[in-house]
Amino acid sequence: MLKLYNTLDREKQTFVPLEPGKVRMYVCGMTVYDYCHLGHARVMVVFDMVARWLRASGFQVTYVRNITDIDDKIIKRAGENGETIRALTDRFIAAMHEDADALGVLRPDHEPRAMDYVPQMLGLIEKLEKNGLAYQAPNQDVCYSVHSFPGYGKLSGKSLDDLRAGERVDVSEGKRDPLDFVLWKHAKASEPAEAKWDSPWGSGRPGWHIECSAMSSDLLGDRFDIHGGGQDLQFPHHENEIAQSEGAHQHQFVNYWMHNGFIRVDNEKMSKSLGNFFTIRDVLKQYDAEVVRFFILRAHYRSPLNYSDAHLDDARQALTRLYTALKGYSGEGKVDWNEAHGQRFKAAMDDDFGTSEAVAVLFDLAQEVNKGHDPALAAQLKGLAGLLGLLQRDAVVFLQGTPAEEGGLTPEVIEALIADRIAAKKAKNFAESDRIRDELKAAGIVLEDGPQGTTWRRA
Ligand SMILES: [Zn+2]
Repeated sequence: MLKLYNTLDREKQTFVPLEPGKVRMYVCGMTVYDYCHLGHARVMVVFDMVARWLRASGFQVTYVRNITDIDDKIIKRAGENGETIRALTDRFIAAMHEDADALGVLRPDHEPRAMDYVPQMLGLIEKLEKNGLAYQAPNQDVCYSVHSFPGYGKLSGKSLDDLRAGERVDVSEGKRDPLDFVLWKHAKASEPAEAKWDSPWGSGRPGWHIECSAMSSDLLGDRFDIHGGGQDLQFPHHENEIAQSEGAHQHQFVNYWMHNGFIRVDNEKMSKSLGNFFTIRDVLKQYDAEVVRFFILRAHYRSPLNYSDAHLDDARQALTRLYTALKGYSGEGKVDWNEAHGQRFKAAMDDDFGTSEAVAVLFDLAQEVNKGHDPALAAQLKGLAGLLGLLQRDAVVFLQGTPAEEGGLTPEVIEALIADRIAAKKAKNFAESDRIRDELKAAGIVLEDGPQGTTWRRA
C-alpha cells in the first residue's frame, strides 16, 4: 500500500487513485527562455522517480509535464536576441530534452506547450467570469477575484490576511485585492504579433497560472490524482491553479499535491546575484550525469538538498561502491520481491517514496554481493537500482569513467601504461613495474590484479 505526503492535508495518506489501476499526474514544467538549472534537475528527476515507482507498482500512469512557452521573460529575451519566440523556445526545449536525457529522466507522456492551449484557457476564463470569479480591471487585464473563492489559501494553509501581508500592489495595476492575479494580460502595442491572441476582452495573452489549469484538465480531466512541482510553486502558483480549476468546475481539482524541497548551494539559496547559480550543463561538465541523479535521489524528495563539490564527490564515491559490486556481473537486473532486500526496498518506496532508505538497502545488498558473489543477488541489486534509473551501465565502463579533472589520464594512456607495466614485469624489471603502479596511483587510478588479468578504475 503506497502512502504519500499530501501537501493539501499536511499528512501522509494512503494513495487511492480515482480510477482503479490508473494514475493521472501533472507536474509544472519549465519556462523555456534559458538553460535548465539544478532546481529543474531536481523536479525532473524526482517526478521521474515517482512515475517509475507508480509504474513498478502496477499502475497505468499518464504523466503530463507542461512547457511554458509564452510569458514576459520569453518575450523580453526573444526581443533582446532578435529572434522569434518560437525559435527561442524551440531551442531551449531541445536543450531541456538533452539535459533530461543525460539525467536518465524518461519523457513524460505529454509535454503540452502553453501556446497550443490558448482556446482552452479562454474557455476557462469565460467560465470564471460567468461564475462571478473574474473581472476586467481598468487597465483591461482580466483578473481573478480571490475573495470571491472561499477556498483560497487552503493549500498553503494561510488566511487571506496572512497572505496579503506579504504582497504589495501597484494601484496602477487596477486590481481590487493585492492577491488578485492576472488571467488575461492586455496586449501592449510594443509586443510582437506572435504574443497576441484575440479574446472577448481584447487582444492579449494568458497569465501563467491559467495555462496549467487549462492544460491539465484538457489532458487529464477536471479532476485527477497527483499534482506535483517544486516547493516554491505552492504559493501563489498552485493556490491559484486550485482557485481557477475549482472556481470553474465547482468541484475538487486534485486529490494529492506533492512538492519537492529546495536545492541550496553551499548552504545558500541558489541565485544569479550570489554567483552560485548552476545550470545542469555546468554541473555535467564536472560530474557524471548518473552521479548527479544519484545525489538527487539519495535524499528524500521533500528534504532540502545541499549542493556542494564535497557532496558531489561523496556521491561519486558512493555510486562507485555500488558499481564495484556489479563488476563481475554482466547479466540483466531481475527483481525478486520475496527476497529480504526486495521487501525492504518496496517498504521504503511505499512510504512516501523513501529513496534515501531505498538507496541504503542497495548498499546493504552490495555488501552481500561482495561477500558471496551470488549472481541472483547481483541481479537483484541491478534490478532494484533500475527502478530508480540507476546502475544500468556496464560497471567497468562506469568505474573507468572519464578523466575526473583537467589533466586526468585518458583511458588510452592508462591502458598503455598498464601494458608497459605487464611488459616490465615479464622482463623482471620490478622497479619499473612498481614505478608505473605508483604513477597511476598518483593520478587516481587503482589497479586490481585478478585471475583475468589487471583491471583498473578511478579512485
Ligand atoms: Zn503549473
